Amino acid sequence: MVELRSVRKSFGSLEVLKGVDLTVAAGEVTVILGPSGSGKSTLLRTINHLEKADAGWVSVGGTLIGYRRSGDKLYELPEREVLKQRTRIGFVFQDFHLFPHLTVLENVVEAPVWALKRPRAAATASAKALLARVGLADKAGAYPRQLSGGQQQRVAIARALALEPGLLLFDEPTSALDPELVGEVLDVIKDLARQGTTMIVVTHEIGFAREVADTVVFMDDGRVVEQGAPDDVLNAPRHARTKAFLSKVL
Ligand code: ATP
Ligand code: MG
Repeated sequence: MVELRSVRKSFGSLEVLKGVDLTVAAGEVTVILGPSGSGKSTLLRTINHLEKADAGWVSVGGTLIGYRRSGDKLYELPEREVLKQRTRIGFVFQDFHLFPHLTVLENVVEAPVWALKRPRAAATASAKALLARVGLADKAGAYPRQLSGGQQQRVAIARALALEPGLLLFDEPTSALDPELVGEVLDVIKDLARQGTTMIVVTHEIGFAREVADTVVFMDDGRVVEQGAPDDVLNAPRHARTKAFLSKVL
């Protein structure tokens, strides 16, 4: 379960998150929609403490992220504690972020070896299984530059899964892809959803939201404007801003 309470974030004088509350139940998929600049990426980055909220708090699986509570005060955790928390939260970026000098297999093996201190042989066996799961068993020895964008993104998903995260965050995982490659990446995410992976996905793929999301959240100007079941938010939006946004993307 993921909880955000009254999360605020400013960059200088620009307030980007204006008090966000969000609850994601374990095993559920939440899709976040909203116009450019509405704060979607900042919100995701706040969840794993890549951005530090100015106010409010985030908890994942009952653990406060970036802080410990003592009485009614919050104290910031040292960086190495935050890094440890971050290994439990997978993050998949729009532009893949693979290590270019490592093979596909090495990209998936390194994180569990270094972050979780897994023996290399065990990490290699799990990495091979993960690559098979995303349909890339035959690409283990290739380098990222030898792969299509869709294949690179599937490696990035396998790499995130290698840390056995309790939560996966996706920031527009298909928006850097050619249209014909979008489906293969969404299929992998759908498969994870079927297996009960807790996920928060920022995307403009409305069809995917309709099919896979348990909850759709519409953000605008740093706030959650509307949230609910996909049928409700996508077919019968209540707020003028949601209606205006959907009329542009549908
Ligand atoms: P998009 O759909 O274009 O990805 P978004 O909803 O993800 O947009 P954010 O990236 O969260 O929006 O950005 C929200 C606002 O915060 C924007 O005005 C952006 O310019 C600003 N912003 C984001 N990160 C920073 C930063 N590190 N420093 C200053 N301003 C920032
Ligand atoms: Mg963004």
